Amino acid sequence: MSDLTRFMLGENDIPRYWYNINADSPVPPAPVLHPGTKEPVTPDFLSMIFPMEIILQEVSTERYIPIPEEVREAYKLYRPTPLVRALRLEKKLGTPAHIYYKYEGASPSGSHKSNTALAQAYFNKVAGTHAMTTETGAGQWGTALSMACKFFDIDLEVYMVKVSYEQKPYRRFLMETYGAQVYASPSDRTHAGQAILAEHPDSPGSLGIAISEAVEVAALSEGRKKYSLGSVLNHVLLHQTVIGEEALKQMDMAGEYPDMVIGCVGGGSNFGGIALPFLRENLKNGRRTRLIAVEPTAAPSLTRGVYAFDYGDTAQMAPIVKMHTLGHDFIPPAIHAGGLRYHGMAPLLCSLYDAGLIEAVAVKQLSTFEAAVAFAQTEGILPAPESAHAIRTAVDEALKCKETGEKKVILFNLSGHGHFDLTAYNKYLTGQLEDYDYPEEAIATIRQRLPQVAVEA
Ligand SMILES: *Cc1c(COP(=O)(O)O)cnc(C)c1O
Repeated sequence: MSDLTRFMLGENDIPRYWYNINADSPVPPAPVLHPGTKEPVTPDFLSMIFPMEIILQEVSTERYIPIPEEVREAYKLYRPTPLVRALRLEKKLGTPAHIYYKYEGASPSGSHKSNTALAQAYFNKVAGTHAMTTETGAGQWGTALSMACKFFDIDLEVYMVKVSYEQKPYRRFLMETYGAQVYASPSDRTHAGQAILAEHPDSPGSLGIAISEAVEVAALSEGRKKYSLGSVLNHVLLHQTVIGEEALKQMDMAGEYPDMVIGCVGGGSNFGGIALPFLRENLKNGRRTRLIAVEPTAAPSLTRGVYAFDYGDTAQMAPIVKMHTLGHDFIPPAIHAGGLRYHGMAPLLCSLYDAGLIEAVAVKQLSTFEAAVAFAQTEGILPAPESAHAIRTAVDEALKCKETGEKKVILFNLSGHGHFDLTAYNKYLTGQLEDYDYPEEAIATIRQRLPQVAVEA
C-alpha cells in the first residue's frame, strides 16, 4: 500500500476508449418507445434531435468505443483528474477505513459534465451541426455544454429551470460568458412552455419541463438545431466511464482495491461513470466491489419510485423509457441539490439495480450538508451539494467500520465543487434548511400517472 495522498496520472493515461457496459451486462435493455405511437422508436425519430454517431453509441453493444483524438485533446485541459486519499477526513472520523475520492470538480466547468459535453459537441460538429439546444437545472450541465459548444464553434440555447435561473444568477452569467443564450423555463418561446404558463403562471419549472422546451425547439427546427441531454441516456453514461477507468489505474497506484464505490445519482451519469468499469471487474474478473448509488430523500426515484415505462419529460415529447420513476409530472421540492431533482433515472442503471448488481440508498438534506461541511473543513474542497450525498454515504460506511474495526477501502466520486452553491451553505449554516421526504401520497399515485404501453413492463 502506498503512503501518498494524491495519485496523479499523466496526459498519456487519459483513456483511449469509453467502456460500454451493454457488452457485458447480463440484463438486456428494454425497448425505447415513441412518445406518440408508444411503439419502439425508429432511428428516424431520434435523428430529428440527435446526430447519427450519438444514436449509434446509444444502441451499441461494442465493449470499447474509441475516444476521438479531438476529444482527448480537449480532455487534456483537466484530465486525468486527481484521485485523493482523504486522510484528514479519516482522522477526524477516527475510522480504520481508507477513504479515497476521485475529484471531477477539477474540470473548468466545475463538474464531471464536461466529459460528455465535449464528446457530444464534437460529434455534433463532425455531423455538421451549427446550433444546439439543451436544458439545465442547477446550471452545471448548461455551463459544461456552453464551454464545449464554444470550443467546437456551435451556437447554444439553454432552457434553465426558473427557480435556479432566479436563485443562481452566477451560473447563468458563466454560461453567457461562454457565449450561450439562456432562457428561464417555462418560457413563452415554446408550445410546451406556453401551456405550462397558461395553467401555472408562477411555475418554478422543473427539469422535465425544461427538457420538453429544449426538445421541442430542436424537433421543430427542421434539422437545423440538435438537442443534447447531460445525463440519463446510455451514451452519456458511456462518455463518463473515463472517470472509472482512470480510478482503476489510480487505485492500483495506491496499492488498494475498493470494497465499495459510491456516487450520487440525479440522472445517474457520474455514478455510472465511476461504477461501470468496476462493475466490469465484478462481472468478468471476480471482484466483489459494492456499487452504491445515493439519492436525496426528496427525489427518491430508485429507492421509492416505480419501475415502469414513463416519459423522459413533462410535456410527453421525449421518448418513453423503462426506469425507476416518480412520474413525469413530478415537481420536485426545492432542495439545494438541484442536479438531483429529476423524476427518473438512467434506464441502464435501473436495469442493473433491478438485477441486484448495484445498490441504492437515500439520504436527508441536513445530514448531507453536515457531511459536506466536515469534508470542507478537513479536505479543503467545498463540495457541490449533489456530490455531498456521496460524501454522506462514504462517511456512514466509514463510521460503520469504526464500530466493527474493519479496514474497508471506500472510493467515492466527488462529482463537482460547490463554489456556486454558497447561498445553500449559508442557509445551512444559519439554520434555514430543512429535511424533506417525498410524501407517501405522491408515491401511491405514481402508477395512475404513467403512460399505458403495450410492451411487457
Ligand atoms: C448534474 C450533477 C449531478 C447529477 O447528475 P448525474 O447525471 O446523476 O451525475 C451530480 N453532481 C454534480 C456536481 C452535477 O453537476
